[in-house]
Amino acid sequence: MKKLKIIRTIKEMVAWSNQNKSQNKIGFVPTMGYLHEGHLSLVRTAKENSDLVVVSIFVNPTQFGANEDLSTYPRDFERDISLLENLDVDVVFFPNNQEMYPTGYKTWVVTDEITSILCGKSRPTHFKGVTTIVSKLINIVNPESVFMGTKDFQQLTVLNQMVQDLNFRTKIIGCPIVRENDGLAMSSRNKYLNEIERKNALCLSESIKSSKKMIKNGEKSPNKIIESVKKIITEKSGKIDYVEILDERTLKFTNSIDEHSRLFLAVYIGKTRLIDNANLNV
Ligand code: AMP
Repeated sequence: MKKLKIIRTIKEMVAWSNQNKSQNKIGFVPTMGYLHEGHLSLVRTAKENSDLVVVSIFVNPTQFGANEDLSTYPRDFERDISLLENLDVDVVFFPNNQEMYPTGYKTWVVTDEITSILCGKSRPTHFKGVTTIVSKLINIVNPESVFMGTKDFQQLTVLNQMVQDLNFRTKIIGCPIVRENDGLAMSSRNKYLNEIERKNALCLSESIKSSKKMIKNGEKSPNKIIESVKKIITEKSGKIDYVEILDERTLKFTNSIDEHSRLFLAVYIGKTRLIDNANLNV
C-alpha cells in the first residue's frame, strides 16, 4: 500500500501537480466526503485510467441554499481516509472554506439555461456553486480527467457544457450509478433516512423499473409514464419536487419516448431530498 498524502493548502496542491503532471496522467475525483461505494467506484475507474489519483473532500458551502443541509451534511474524515488508503489513492485534497473562498472572494462561473430546470428550479443557486468550485478544483489539481457519477446527471451535463464553453483541457468522464442491493441509489444523504423512510425511498428506483416495464410493453407517451410514476411516489408518502422525462442529450422535453429518453426524479422522503435518474430504454 502506498502512503496517502493529505494536502490542505492550494499552494501545496499546485506544487504537487506541477511536479507530477508532466510524467503522469492525473485522474481526479471531487467529492463532499462521507464516502460510499458510489464514490469508491469513481476512484476505481480513475485508478484504471490514470497514473496518479487525487480525491478532494470539500463540503462546498456555495452549492447549498440558505435553508439547505450544509450544517448537518454528514462528515467522517477518518473513515474516508481509511477507505481511500485501501484503494491506493495518491492524494486527498482537503482544503477548508477560507482556503477555497478567502475573505474578499468575488468570482463566479455560471452556466445558463440547463441550470434553471430540474434541480435548478428548486435550488436556484446550486449549480453556480458547483461550476465555480469545480472550475477552481480543476485549476488547482490540473488533472487530465475528472471522474463523476451519472447519479447527478444534470450536474454532469452542466460541467460538460462548462468545460466545452470555457475551453478547459480537462475531460469529464461520466460513471454509472451505484445502487444498494434493493435498488436505492447510494447517496451520503441516505444516512438521514429512518427505518420507515428507508423503505419508502425505494419508490424512486421502483418508479424507474416500472417506467422501463411500461415502455417494454409499448407505452410511448411520456405523460402517461410520468402520471404512473407520480402515483407510485405519492403512495409511498414521497413529496415530489419533479418527475420529468427529457432527451438526455439536450435536457429538453420530448413528445414521444425514444432511445434518448431519460427519467429524472427528485423526491422528498420525510425531510430528505433524494434524486435518481435512468435512461428508460436500457
Ligand atoms: P458528492 O460527494 O455527493 O458531491 O458526490 C461526489 C461524486 O460522486 C459526484 O460525481 C457524484 O455524482 C458521485 N456519486 C454520488 N453518488 C453516486 C452513486 N450512487 N453512484 C455513482 N456516483 C455517485
